[in-house]
Amino acid sequence: MSQYETGASESMPLSVKGLLMELSITLPDGSTRTLPAGATVRSLAASIGAGLAKAAIAGKLNGELVDVTAPLVDGAQVEIVTDKSPEALEIIRHSTSHLMAQAVKELFPQAKVTIGPAIETGFYYDFDVEQPFTPEDLEKIENRMRELAKADIPVQREVLSKDDAIKLFSDMGEGYKVEIISALDAETVSLYRQGGFVDLCRGPHVPSTSFCRAFKITSLAGAYWRGDEKNRMLQRVYGTAFADKKELDAYLARIEEAKRRDHRKLGRELDLFSFSDEVGAGFAIWHPKGAMLRTILEDFERKEHLKRGYDIVVGPQILKTELWQRSGHYENYRENMYFTEVDEQGFGIKPMNCLAHMMIYKSQLRSYRDLPLRFFELGTVHRHERAGVLHGLLRVRCFTQDDAHLLCTPDQLDTEIKGVISFVNDVMAIFGFEYEMELSTRPEKSIGSDEDWERATNALLGALKDSGRPFEINEGDGAFYGPKIDIKLRDCLDRRWQCATIQCDFTLPERFDLTYVDANGERKRPVMVHRVILGSIERFIGVLIEHFAGNFPVWISPVQAIVLTVTDNQQEYAKQVYETLRKAGVRVQKDFRNEKLGFKIREAQLQKVPYMLVIGDREVETKTIAPRFRDGSNLETMSAEAFAEYIAREVASFH
Ligand SMILES: [Zn+2]
Ligand SMILES: [Zn+2]
Repeated sequence: MSQYETGASESMPLSVKGLLMELSITLPDGSTRTLPAGATVRSLAASIGAGLAKAAIAGKLNGELVDVTAPLVDGAQVEIVTDKSPEALEIIRHSTSHLMAQAVKELFPQAKVTIGPAIETGFYYDFDVEQPFTPEDLEKIENRMRELAKADIPVQREVLSKDDAIKLFSDMGEGYKVEIISALDAETVSLYRQGGFVDLCRGPHVPSTSFCRAFKITSLAGAYWRGDEKNRMLQRVYGTAFADKKELDAYLARIEEAKRRDHRKLGRELDLFSFSDEVGAGFAIWHPKGAMLRTILEDFERKEHLKRGYDIVVGPQILKTELWQRSGHYENYRENMYFTEVDEQGFGIKPMNCLAHMMIYKSQLRSYRDLPLRFFELGTVHRHERAGVLHGLLRVRCFTQDDAHLLCTPDQLDTEIKGVISFVNDVMAIFGFEYEMELSTRPEKSIGSDEDWERATNALLGALKDSGRPFEINEGDGAFYGPKIDIKLRDCLDRRWQCATIQCDFTLPERFDLTYVDANGERKRPVMVHRVILGSIERFIGVLIEHFAGNFPVWISPVQAIVLTVTDNQQEYAKQVYETLRKAGVRVQKDFRNEKLGFKIREAQLQKVPYMLVIGDREVETKTIAPRFRDGSNLETMSAEAFAEYIAREVASFH
């Protein structure tokens, strides 16, 4: 009984005489328990076991998350949340953001606190400070957080009237909190107090600071108050937290690995591409090796599309504004488009490749016998993205899509969609990526007949089922003009990247009045599908760089081999080897500089060149080469011609 009393005394004295003195509670396993009135989540946990009481982070009271000090109600369904529960991580992370704010306020009393939510990777807190935080400041903050966590300070909930809360925070000089509370449509607000620190919060929170046992401050960024550029710039401190140190360490190791593989860093080191303020943010400049990588992918794409019955087409970069009005892009997508005017005629720079493809379809009368038509274009598009979201090659303002538009009869739709899915499957296998598929169905606001939607959705669904792979359905998440399939590839760090999309479209055939003549001589509307396989070439290269950490497979390596001389004595034969390989189509470089061999080898390794061909006196004498792979393994000694054939076979095995 003493356990009950300990818990119950926290929220309500047992001496409330004459009232209901007992509560009946149902646990997740269906069992019921009787507790004295005033019992809390913690006293319930204690009635089950002292260990559980200690491990309790929060409770779930009739499905709602509450603090362990929350009083129970008669007849409630109650669950104890421990660090094993799926809900625990968010509570721990959010609580750690409070811990960080407490540390900041102790170290920087002038700092103003704003908000600190849990996010997918951890948490952040935005502070208004005169001086931006330095790395040393962050270290101090983290150390202070550890001390506060160790001190095991209770975290206590209080409920105040809105007016009292405004007065409390305005007395503390916390203007942002006053602003937040003033905007709330509530009579009372809840606060959480831990030691001298108090924050406005809905909760729930961990019972005491010692529950924050595995955390790390990860980064710092500027962020505008309420995300509005007209407001003050705040300091956003990011951190992450886990239930235990092992999980935290595994996560941090993954982050380190991602940093090591960052395509912006590797893009610079491998001299693939750059960005320049003089050119404009979000516009990649491709250096020789990066441009070679692109060219390899583009050639691969052309070949694969031709194999599958696509026609290659090319449209102009700018099209008259009137055409964008007709397509609906002007009305719905104008903010993301670039426009120009020449000889008093307005033009829109294309953000999509569809329109020229429509015009090609319309350039002649089409019969059902001509269908399906599959127009493929490596189409370069410009889309104005906000500066804040630009991110290396992953988010740019100019990119090239491997875009195609399929135009077919309604009967052909099933086969066409299946063809695209098997295309995606082939390509992902070639690059060695796993992937996931999602179907997005009809949203509330949509155009097109029920019949159109049913046919298109069934075609997509049928192809997904046919693929034999698991997929998800996002009900009502399709575009207003048709259902779609999104395909996300999974990289070696288990991150998901959008690549292929298959989108049915009921508007463009209408707006452009596309028709074909059917077997009975009647004019019919063709069905239209937009689809990409890799998506944006820029983005895909960004993903490839990170996935392979710059160690590209031989078939896509912009440089496949490098010829190195030991001394000037081997130059002549080395030159012959270089020329032989180059003429045989091997992407080869040479380094005949009068430098130490060790230095030249290190440079080639940093460039992650697959094969190093060191030419010494023995190679000169025997007229051979001894190719050495970047992992340190060696091929047998062979002639330059034989090596060229070996590379050609390796490349051919991919496509
Ligand atoms: Zn909170
Ligand atoms: Zn399109």
